[in-house]
Amino acid sequence: MQVFKFGGASVKDAAAVQNVVNIIEHFPNEELVIVVSAMGKTTNALEEVIAAYWKKDTSELAEKINSLRGFHDVILDELFPNNHDGIKEEIAEIFDGLVEECNEPCSDNYHFEYDQIVSLGEVISTKIVNTFLNKNGVASTWLDARKMVRTNNSWREGKVNWEETTKKVKEQVDKTDTRISVTQGFLGHTAEGFTTTLGREGSDFTAAIMAYSLGAESVTIWKDVPGMLNADPKWFDNTVLLEKISFKEAIELAYYGASVIHPKTIQPLKKMNIPLYVKSFINPDQQGTVIQESSVNDSIIPSFIFKMDQVLISLSPKDLSFIIEENLEEIFGYLSKENIRMNLLQTSAVSFSFVVDRAKVDLEKLVANFEDDYLVRYNEGLEIVTIRHFDEPTIKRVTKYKKIILEQKTRETVRIVMKDLGV
Ligand code: ASP
Ligand code: MG
Repeated sequence: MQVFKFGGASVKDAAAVQNVVNIIEHFPNEELVIVVSAMGKTTNALEEVIAAYWKKDTSELAEKINSLRGFHDVILDELFPNNHDGIKEEIAEIFDGLVEECNEPCSDNYHFEYDQIVSLGEVISTKIVNTFLNKNGVASTWLDARKMVRTNNSWREGKVNWEETTKKVKEQVDKTDTRISVTQGFLGHTAEGFTTTLGREGSDFTAAIMAYSLGAESVTIWKDVPGMLNADPKWFDNTVLLEKISFKEAIELAYYGASVIHPKTIQPLKKMNIPLYVKSFINPDQQGTVIQESSVNDSIIPSFIFKMDQVLISLSPKDLSFIIEENLEEIFGYLSKENIRMNLLQTSAVSFSFVVDRAKVDLEKLVANFEDDYLVRYNEGLEIVTIRHFDEPTIKRVTKYKKIILEQKTRETVRIVMKDLGV
């Protein structure tokens, strides 16, 4: 049994869906569970539907739903010129249901409503992929992740109940009589049967949940990149493919911000020692990256992770008292309440400094909260570069034309907060 995951970009139009089927046809004898995301940017579009529903803006709501329906209709017409197995009616029914739901008054729980609506993206994409597989003579069964992945009721960030989930995944997959099943990434359900989601980009995590529950042989995430690279090509020329890295290394890279795989994906796989392949859906025969237990190859190539548009915030007690546990408790309490994630932190005798994404912090509110007791300073327009397995020449190269604001070094990792000098 293997688990494959196809993200939004790999099913963004009819040609992409055809490509998914071609890839699956490369595996004529494997038992496969195929986890699929919503098509293209559907999840973003559904977020806009919810926003319009919440605002009670009926004309915007109708426009957003129609445009999303139109996007899917184009794909349906290309894939199924003569319809197939009633797929067109089935998708139409989902959209009609969405319109109906949005005619009902909205409850006062935005996050709950969000999950009920945004989940439709994956329901639709999986119905289309599953029907197209069958149309092409690849027998497969559509499975409902909302009957398999059990979570608590933390809407938009459902926490998995592993015991219930394992049981249900096994039950559902055992029941099928086809070699292949197709299910939704990103979705779960509560004990009461309401739909939850696992957090944006959560489909990778679903693939890991499936593999963990079934004791799968491997997971493959099919992407529009050749595998895990040692840097984001957006910021860096001459990127190198990481052919083989350890689970631990992958967790470290994801933690510092490498965005190739969702950070939650690795832990369940590591627990069961299930290797994770990251491969290109454009060149499916290429090797890609394998993430597995052994760390012997981890330090061969330095990896770089950039975070742009950062702000460094420093808090110093006005009475020049030392920064001690009580201050930290107060500061951490505030950050946790405001859902602000620190990307890096540093304490000195009389100040506490931390770096966060500029877009995720309300600086005015933060200053107002602390200014009675602390001198609050901040420095915007910064970037953090993290280099794993660094050496001095790479540090020099990366910090050229930059002003270094702060630097932290351990044996494996250097992290530098810096400002572009604009040279
Ligand atoms: N469709 C969801 C999202 O865009 C989940 C995923 O793609 O992994 O966030
Ligand atoms: Mg996506």
